[in-house]
Amino acid sequence: MMSFYMRFDIITIFPHLLDSYTNESLLKRAQKNNLLSINTHDLRAHTNDPHNKVDDTPYGGGPGMVYQVEPVVQALEALPRDKKSTVILTSPRGTPFSQKMAKQLSKYDQLIFVCPRYEGIDERIKKYIDKEISIGPYVLNGGEIAAMVVIEAVSRYIPGVLGKEESLVEESFSQEGVLEYPQYTRPETFRGSWVPKILLSGNHKKIAEWRAKKSPKGAT
Ligand code: SAM
Repeated sequence: MMSFYMRFDIITIFPHLLDSYTNESLLKRAQKNNLLSINTHDLRAHTNDPHNKVDDTPYGGGPGMVYQVEPVVQALEALPRDKKSTVILTSPRGTPFSQKMAKQLSKYDQLIFVCPRYEGIDERIKKYIDKEISIGPYVLNGGEIAAMVVIEAVSRYIPGVLGKEESLVEESFSQEGVLEYPQYTRPETFRGSWVPKILLSGNHKKIAEWRAKKSPKGAT
């Protein structure tokens, strides 16, 4: 039986920035098991500029540099596209990322991320993207970390990516708006701090009730 396979593509001027993160732990195992692939593409390889420039000063003046639309569109056009793919622009002005969105995005075969730096990108990119996503109300130096956040959250929904010990069940947000209960492990006492007695009781019904009571309401 063919297992589900998802492809992530990241367009960036720093194609090695995320290497060490994507080559460790669960993402490393998922790639080795052919459940997903994470491919970075050097934006500078798609510019017509003799000095590989991908940015220019903003029309109307102002500080900083703006990514030009042409190299990004050329990079997008050079990418192999799966049947069900979507192009995401990382941006602090985008729709706030959420667990719900991670689940929806996990239904695609391919997610393509455009990751500007500096002052962002020429607004005319809008014609070539499908979604604009923000990972929170703050400003990062570039879109790469934002893309990584989305990739990691989405990858957890790909069957086989999580082991039993990292199950999605009972996790924060697995029920809309509910966060996970507090967790404890050995030892029973640490510097005068005890594990709640109920968790040592072996009474599964009471433990479930305690956990339900201790699950805080969170954002959806
Ligand atoms: N001048 C832009 C502004 O004031 O909104 C900020 C640009 S930021 C320095 C450079 C790039 O980082 C953005 O174009 C975007 O790709 C990425 N970025 C920054 N903050 C982000 C966030 N909260 N979520 C997603 N991407 C973000």
